[in-house]
Amino acid sequence: MSYNINEKGYYGEFGGAYIPEMLYPNVEELRQNYLKIMAEPSFQEEFNALLKDYVGRPSPLYFAKRLSKKYNTKIYLKREDLNHTGAHKINNTIGQILMAKRLGKNRIIAETGAGQHGVATATVCALMGIECIVYMGEIDIARQAPNVARMKMLGATVIPALSGSRTLKDATNEAIRDWINNPIDTHYIIGSVVGPHPYPDMVAKFQAVVSEEIKSQLLEKEGTEDPTYLVACVGGGSNAAGTYYHYLDNEAVNIIAVEAAGLGVDSGESAATSVLGKEGIIHGSKTLLMQTNDGQITEPYSISAGLDYPGVGPMHANLYKTGRAEFIAITDDDAMKAGLDLCKLEGIIPAIESSHALAVFEHKTFKPDDIVVLNLSGRGDKDLQNYIDYFKL
Ligand SMILES: *Cc1c(COP(=O)(O)O)cnc(C)c1O
Repeated sequence: MSYNINEKGYYGEFGGAYIPEMLYPNVEELRQNYLKIMAEPSFQEEFNALLKDYVGRPSPLYFAKRLSKKYNTKIYLKREDLNHTGAHKINNTIGQILMAKRLGKNRIIAETGAGQHGVATATVCALMGIECIVYMGEIDIARQAPNVARMKMLGATVIPALSGSRTLKDATNEAIRDWINNPIDTHYIIGSVVGPHPYPDMVAKFQAVVSEEIKSQLLEKEGTEDPTYLVACVGGGSNAAGTYYHYLDNEAVNIIAVEAAGLGVDSGESAATSVLGKEGIIHGSKTLLMQTNDGQITEPYSISAGLDYPGVGPMHANLYKTGRAEFIAITDDDAMKAGLDLCKLEGIIPAIESSHALAVFEHKTFKPDDIVVLNLSGRGDKDLQNYIDYFKL
């Protein structure tokens, strides 16, 4: 049994491409070409060169000595926070901009919630000199002013989504509408392992560099490629997919996925999709989804903007359903505490998303000789105001 995608674009019962007829040509063009393009030596060469010299890869695998001592186990942090633009998202946008160029596209659209994916997309569009349009909910534009400014400085046009709740799902609807109207010249860069097939697989493959590096780095440090545990936070699931990718079918390696419980799983203010979600279709993919009894999408909540998503990628829905991964839900309070703890113990200020993953050590006891590799998906600069407000700094 494999936990990776099958030829039809499914992980177990999850995935597929549930899209409006008018989007079919765009998605089909991508589906027919993505594997072929990714396998081209010239693609690999350009992708790897940019990851190295522009993003700054490989990101270090850092043995966190004081954190390890506190929890009496061996903890390694995969330092995606040190990437250019401060998180793992750039791995995917570099891959997709190269894909877009090879498909002959000269216009990029993207949706963004908190603005992190918008910034990562605007960055690679500037790098390549390609027009960039980012759809963002009007409410999010007001809440995330620094990221809106970053996108504008990078040359992107930010278009407000004025319908519905004026947040991420409405921005996504606007982006899809744009793509339907501009099928020839435009590529839609999706920011996580979500959306219709082949997006979840393509994004997972661009992020897989994370686990590829973990294997060789761990071999060098511990004499084995296999950690006892892999830990990552899950919003849509892309940093986690990258962390797990080369270990998915190696069941000697335990997988832990950390979701945002918000104010508590049963509080009504949560983003713990696997626990609260039911099977449904969101953004063209069959997956687990937070919804009301009559199938309306529930507005999620987390202190962390990047985890505040009502769905989860189909790979993760399948990891949950099959029990291959252990899912843990972490509250705002526990995440914030774990984030501040890392600052004091290791001199690293993590993104609040990553702080959710770090809280795993207060929730689960590991053995002294366990090797735990945790993906530190991003740095905390973007979250400073949140940390200031929360801790009254
Ligand atoms: C966007 C983001 C996430 C969540 O997205 P995934 O696709 O689940 O990885 C996690 N951490 C950081 C730092 C982010 O910016």
